[in-house]
Amino acid sequence: MDLTNEGTAVPEEPCQCPDCQRFYREHDRLIRENPTLRQQQELSWAALQSFRTLAGRVLEDLQKSTPEPGVDSVPAAAAAGGPQEASAQDALQQAVSDLENINAHLFSIEALMERIFDVRVPEPVEQKFREIAGELAPDPLNADRLRLNRLLHQTPDLPDR
Ligand SMILES: [Zn+2]
Repeated sequence: MDLTNEGTAVPEEPCQCPDCQRFYREHDRLIRENPTLRQQQELSWAALQSFRTLAGRVLEDLQKSTPEPGVDSVPAAAAAGGPQEASAQDALQQAVSDLENINAHLFSIEALMERIFDVRVPEPVEQKFREIAGELAPDPLNADRLRLNRLLHQTPDLPDR
């Protein structure tokens, strides 16, 4: 899924599969509940840090319980447990290396984010953020929104999100 949509043609009809619908709902909720630059910065930072903390701890834990490839205990364990044990070990080994990659990428993203988070904007610009957020992701339970939705669903063209 293209999360930026910048410079690309907006698809005529957004995908309506359950995954995409869940994404649209979550996307709008995050705008609605964090309608300023400051709040978006804090939200992204918290999401990144919680991801790093959790993935890092799991990796540490796996590394403790998973022998390095090439270490003597691997064939021994595999021999003891049979082929099933061996493939379970392989899958764990693969997961460790995947998580190492993820953590390296998260580390790079953090470095980039720090620059985004240095930015502060004056209150009128934050007000502009709130305004646009209200247009992009109005409260779904708001009466006007419900009425508008009903109108929109009577037309064949889905609105741009
Ligand atoms: Zn989809």
